[in-house]
Amino acid sequence: MEFIRVSAGSAALLGLKRVKMLHAPTTIHLLQYTTAGCKANCSFCPQARESLVDKKMLSRVSWPEFPWHVVKDAITEKFKEAGFQRVCLQTVIYSSFIEDMLQVVDELAASGRILISVALIPVAKKVMEQLKTAGAERVGIALDASTPALFSVVKGEKAGGPYTWDGHWKALQDALDVFGKNRVSTHLIAGLGEQERDIIERMQQLHDSSITIGLFAFTPVRGTRLETVKKPGVIYFRKVQLARHLIVHDLARASSFTYDEHTGQLISWGIADSDVIKIIQDSHGKMFETTGCPGCNRPYYTESPRGPVYNHPAPLDPRQVEDAIALLFPGT
Ligand code: SF4
Repeated sequence: MEFIRVSAGSAALLGLKRVKMLHAPTTIHLLQYTTAGCKANCSFCPQARESLVDKKMLSRVSWPEFPWHVVKDAITEKFKEAGFQRVCLQTVIYSSFIEDMLQVVDELAASGRILISVALIPVAKKVMEQLKTAGAERVGIALDASTPALFSVVKGEKAGGPYTWDGHWKALQDALDVFGKNRVSTHLIAGLGEQERDIIERMQQLHDSSITIGLFAFTPVRGTRLETVKKPGVIYFRKVQLARHLIVHDLARASSFTYDEHTGQLISWGIADSDVIKIIQDSHGKMFETTGCPGCNRPYYTESPRGPVYNHPAPLDPRQVEDAIALLFPGT
């Protein structure tokens, strides 16, 4: 394997590129290199087979390529001083992606001190075992969509992609067997057209299955098939973030929330609004920070630094906490 892509912020942290940053990433993000793109065809993704976007892009972030040996040396040398907490390798389907993935993990893990996550495409359980032996600490397998029907449209059969809902769930189960509870994560994209109830109930199912949940706000990228779909409103994303927090900390269950029968919109949290507000205040708005693997802040992955900020890459200041509360509970 000759080249690998590095997110612009990670490349800056590693001293490979000069980039102005408001917030430094706390995880080094790597993306497998292919000029042809991924053989899958997820309709929101610049790497997709049919997307017209430069393959340097993933979401709204640019990922320049560098020789692998240069990146590997930079990561192993700077691990302590650069202050990052883990490395995340994003896989892409091409002919040798499994061998290349195992090589990256094996060679980084050889240093014995780097936590490695792999954002994995569903692969055979045997490959997951090889990945664990090579040194991966945890894996993520992205459902992205909250319902089977949406999954088909954005990354499965109706998108001309190779994936199935059942296949992703089987891969998540296999990964749980191999890596263990709470070392397997998935991502959900809010704003693909799901109802609030859909995404909230899916988060409950994932939590009950000991799968950790990272949230993304849908981001239209010009040249992808979803380029004309609008970003979700911030209030919608804040609701989903808050619901995730209540669910994953066992403070409430999705079944105790109430929803509008027709629109699926959340009406109440199943606990008093004043208690929910206190939870937000006591946590200093922790639920509005980036979610995913421990130690990952993905600065401005889905938003412009000019805002609005969907996933905060750093602890919120008191004004930001109060703004979020005012948005969710107008009139308080
Ligand atoms: S599998 Fe991942 S990289 Fe490939 S098209 Fe889908 S989202 Fe993009």
